[in-house]
This record gives sequence, structure tokens and C-alpha cells, in this order.
Amino acid sequence: MLSVVIVGAGPAGIAAAIYLQRGGFDPLLLEKGVPGGLLRHANNVENYPGFPRGISGTRLAELFVEHLWAMGGSVKNATVKCISRCEDGTFAVSTLDEEYRTKTVIIATGTRAKLVDIRGAQAVGDHRAFYDILELLDMTRPPEKILIYGGGDAAFDYGLNLDRRGYDVTILCRSRIKCLPLLRERAEHARIRAIEGHSITRVMDEGRLRVETDGMGPIETDRLLIACGREPRLDILASSLIALSSTGERTHAADMPGLYLAGDIVADRRRQAGIAIGSGLNAAMLAEQYLRK
Ligand SMILES: Cc1cc2nc3c(=O)[nH]c(=O)nc-3n(C[C@H](O)[C@H](O)[C@H](O)COP(=O)(O)OP(=O)(O)OC[C@H]3O[C@@H](n4cnc5c(N)ncnc54)[C@H](O)[C@@H]3O)c2cc1C
Repeated sequence: MLSVVIVGAGPAGIAAAIYLQRGGFDPLLLEKGVPGGLLRHANNVENYPGFPRGISGTRLAELFVEHLWAMGGSVKNATVKCISRCEDGTFAVSTLDEEYRTKTVIIATGTRAKLVDIRGAQAVGDHRAFYDILELLDMTRPPEKILIYGGGDAAFDYGLNLDRRGYDVTILCRSRIKCLPLLRERAEHARIRAIEGHSITRVMDEGRLRVETDGMGPIETDRLLIACGREPRLDILASSLIALSSTGERTHAADMPGLYLAGDIVADRRRQAGIAIGSGLNAAMLAEQYLRK
């Protein structure tokens, strides 16, 4: 029987792990990908205290992991499939290969990109249409043309990141551009074209990608990067741990002793690394209180 299992090694999970490691609980931190989470996608983090000149998201995420190691903690590579509650009030955490029993569990699985229904997108394949900038960077080289679909902070952060690397970037936004004015200003000073008020109606692979829009001519591009929002990743919770909010959205069952959600998964729209870290610490302190009782 373990004391604490933490699912997800993004900022929230790592902050919880550092706190609990220091408190002598030796938490098991499970991560399906590269530790550091979504922060690794951020171009330049300028609002995290301690880095007055800003820091790349990837580097900041590496520092979080180094900090965890320095405290004697570690990350186990595993994909959690399901978390359920046992009759004795403990929890079963199932991964692809193993099942753990634990007195408390902190779920810090963050968010996933919202899928957008674009005609033809599946047929062009995931080497042409991406939701993940790191995958795109792995599979492409500048000066390819990239069309980013979205108009929020993430779309513009991706745009600036790609422009800095020498890609030819256009941002297409379905409605109004909603990003931070600072990011929009930087995009204007860079070579990024931003178009608002047009949706993609269809994509076709014709050697290059032909992207058809409503009310505008087609756009030719090499790749499409979709950044149309994110939603909480709650799918690993067993149905008994899921509740519906007053607006009908899926949420976790409230007031379940020993089960804590932390970070972007519960952040509503206020998704920032600092908030995720505070939320991770809060969850760790609640778990600690519960275990000491
Ligand atoms: C482009 C971009 C720019 C950003 N810029 C900033 C910024 O400048 N400043 C700022 O403060 N914030 C920024 N953010 C937001 C910040 O990255 C997030 O708020 C933060 O990463 C959330 O941390 P988290 O730990 O809650 O979730 P995440 O970082 O999403 O981590 C969740 C982790 O859980 C893992 N996981 C998911 N499911 C499973 C499973 N079933 N089993 C095991 N592991 C699993 C994932 O692989 C991931 O590593 C930015 C985000 C983006 C996309």
C-alpha cells in the first residue's frame, strides 16, 4: 500500500511531488510522456517570478525536474489508464502494466487540445495536421509554411516560436483575435500574418496542403497547427468518481477524502504555471493532512 500516487509530471504534479518528498512521503509520480508537461510547449515564459529576463518553457520545465531529483524524487514512465475507489476507501491506480494501491492520489493530468472537426483533416494525416507543436518541430524544418488555426495566447505563442526558428507563419482565427495585446504586437513586428473572422471549411493534400476557408480564397501551406482551446483531461477517473456540474460538464466527484485534483485540470480558464504549482502544493498539503490523521 503506497501513501501517495501523483499522476502527471507537469508543474502541478512536480510541485506536489517536491513538497511530499521533502515531507518524507516518497510519492510515486507517474508520467506518460516527457516530464515537464505543457510548459515544455511555451516559447518564452515571462510571468514566472525569478526569471526577470524570461525563460523558455522547456528550460523551466527541466529546472523543475532537476529540483525534484535534487530532493531525491523521481518520475516513473507509465500511462495511467484508470483510477477507482476501493471499498476500504483507498484507491486503485491502473497503468498499462501494473496496478498500485494507494491511500491518496493526486491527479495532475492537465488538459488536452480540443479536437476541431475539419473536413478532410483526418485524410491528410498527422504528418500534415498537428495539435502539438513539439511533434510539428520534430517532423519539419524551416522555412516551411505553417498555418496556425486559433487566435488565443497559445496560437500566438506558437506563431512567435515558429517565426523565431525561421518558419513562414500565418495565423487564421475563426472569430476575433483574443490573445494578449503584447503577443499580437510582437507578431505584427515579426513576419507573421494574422487573419481574423474566417473558418477552415476543408483541407486537402495536393503535395502541399490546400486549406479552404469561408469567405476567403484557399490558403496553400505545408502544415496546419490547430490551437483552438484545451479541455481538462478527466478520462482516467472511473465513472463513480465523475460528477456533472450544474452546466452539465463532466467534473470530479467533490469531497472525496484522499482524492485531489491539481493544476490545469481544475483551473477553469486560468491556466498558468504559477497557478498550477500553487494548486499542486495545495493538493499535496491536503494529502499530507489526510495521511497524518
Ligand atoms: C503555448 C503555451 C504557452 C504557455 N505559456 C505560459 C507562460 O508564459 N506562463 C505560464 O505561467 N504558463 C504558460 N502556459 C501554461 C502552462 O504551461 C500550464 O498552465 C501548466 O503546464 C499546467 O500544468 P499542469 O501540471 O496542471 O498540467 P500539464 O503541464 O498539462 O501536465 C500534465 C502532465 O500529465 C501527463 N499525463 C496526462 N495524462 C496522463 C496519464 N493518463 N498518465 C500519466 N501521465 C499523464 C501529461 O503527459 C503531462 O506531462 C502556457 C501553455 C501553452 C500551451
